[in-house]
Amino acid sequence: MYNKKSLKAEEFISHEEVLRTLAYAEKNKNNIELIEKILKKASPTRNGKQVHCEGLTHEEASILLACDDKTVLDKIYKLAEEIKEAFYGDRIVIFAPLYLSNYCVNGCIYCPYHNQNKHILRKKLTQEEVKAEVIALQDMGHKRLAIESGEDPINNPIEYILECIKTIYSIKHKNGAIRRVNVNIAATTVENYRLLKEAGIGTYILFQETYHKESYEKLHPTGPKHNYAYHTEAMDRAMEAGIDDVGLGVLFGLERYKYEFAALLMHAEHLEAVHGVGPHTISVPRIKKADDIDPNVFDNGIDDETFAKIVALTRIAVPYTGIIISTRESQSVREKLLKLGVSQVSGASRTSVGGYTEEERPTETEQFDVSDQRTLDEVVRWLIEQGHIPSFCTACYREGRTGDRFMSLCKTGQIQNCCHPNALITLKEFLEDYATDETKKIGEKLIEKEINNVPNENVREILRNNLKQIEKGNRDFRF
Ligand code: SF4
Ligand code: SF4
Repeated sequence: MYNKKSLKAEEFISHEEVLRTLAYAEKNKNNIELIEKILKKASPTRNGKQVHCEGLTHEEASILLACDDKTVLDKIYKLAEEIKEAFYGDRIVIFAPLYLSNYCVNGCIYCPYHNQNKHILRKKLTQEEVKAEVIALQDMGHKRLAIESGEDPINNPIEYILECIKTIYSIKHKNGAIRRVNVNIAATTVENYRLLKEAGIGTYILFQETYHKESYEKLHPTGPKHNYAYHTEAMDRAMEAGIDDVGLGVLFGLERYKYEFAALLMHAEHLEAVHGVGPHTISVPRIKKADDIDPNVFDNGIDDETFAKIVALTRIAVPYTGIIISTRESQSVREKLLKLGVSQVSGASRTSVGGYTEEERPTETEQFDVSDQRTLDEVVRWLIEQGHIPSFCTACYREGRTGDRFMSLCKTGQIQNCCHPNALITLKEFLEDYATDETKKIGEKLIEKEINNVPNENVREILRNNLKQIEKGNRDFRF
C-alpha cells in the first residue's frame, strides 16, 4: 500500500503505485488540456524579486515524460531552461570524485568492482597515498570532492573512511584546500552516519541504481547490497543521524526509465514528507563500458534525446534540487544538459584508485570509462566559452546552511545573493592559482562583467574588495 510517509521502502516506493502512475501517464499522454495545466503549474511565478516554483508530483511529471508531442517537448525544454536560469543563473559548480578503495564484497553485475571479478587489480589508498591524491587535486584547483569506495567491512571499514576524510581536510598545499567532502559509500547504520556527520561531510550520496525491487535483487545477487529495503531506506537513517543533505540517483540503463523516473520522484516526495526536506542533489548516471562490463547486455539503455528529456523534467519537478552530471558523459551531451538544468559537473575526473598521481590516466582499477577526459583548466575555459560561470563554491555547508535552512533560502531565492558572488570569488582563486593564461584572460573578463550583475550595492562593494584581496594572496572569502 502506497504511503509516502511510511519508513518502509516497499510502501514509499510502492511498486503498485509506480505501475498505476505509468498506466495513468500512458492514458493521458495526449491529453493536451491536462498537459498544459501541468506545465502552467510548473512555471515560475514572480512576486517582486522573489521567484517561486511549485514543482511537480511524480504523477504529473510522468505524464510529461510519456508525452511524445514535439511541441510539448519544446515547451518542456524551454521551461527547464527558464527554471534553471531563475534559480541557478549561469553558474555551474565543479567537483571531482576521489576513489579510495575498490575492494568490494558486493556482486553488482553492472560494476567492475563486483567481487566475482577476479582479474581486476584491487587497491586501497594508504593515508600517504590519499595525501598525494589530494595534493594532485588541489594542484588542479579542486575544492570539492566526492569520495567513493566499495563496500568491504574488512578492507574499508567506517574507521578507514573517517580517517581518509580527516586526512583530506587536513591538507593545505600552497593555496589549495578541499573545503567540502561529499561521501558516496554503501548504505550503513545510523551510528555510522552519525560518525560521518561528525567528520564534517557535505552531502551523503547513495545511488539507488534501480528502484524496481525484482530487478534490484537480480542485479545485486550477493553481498549486503542485495537487501533492497536496507539500501532504499538508507537516506532515512542518514537523516535520522543528522545528515541534512542527501543525494539520490539511479543508474539509467538498468531498468525502464519511466519506472525509475517515477520512483525517483516518489523517493524525493518521501524525504520531504518525512524529514521536511527533499534531496539536496540528484545524479543522473548512465551505464557505461568498463572492465568486465558490456553496457549492451542491459536492454534498457536510453538515447541522448530521452536522457535530455529526463534531465529537463527533473529540473521542472524538483526545482530546488541540484542535478549532477559526471564525466561519464561526453562533452557534447554535457553541453546540452547544462542548459536544461544541470547545476554540478565533475571535471578532469579519474575513476580509478590512485588515478590522480599517475601521469597517464590509469585504467586497471577504473570503475567506468570516462568520456570527457579534458583537464580542469580546459573544463573551466569551456564552461566560460559556453556562457556559464564555473564555481568552486563550498560556502553553504561551511556556513551551516544545510537541510531545511538551505531549502528555505533556496525557495525564497535568497541563496542567489550568496551563490553569484561566491562563484566569482572562487573562480578568481582558480584564475590566480591554477589557470593557464588563456583561461585567466577570459575568466577575468567574465568576472568584470558579472560584478555588475550583483544587484545589492553593498554586496558588490564587499565582492570587489574580496577580489582585490585575492590578488594580494588572501584566500577563502565567502558570503
Ligand atoms: S557498485 Fe558499489 S557496491 Fe556494487 S560492486 Fe561496485 S563498488 Fe561495490
Ligand atoms: S552559496 Fe551555497 S548553494 Fe550557492 S553555490 Fe555556494 S554552496 Fe552552493
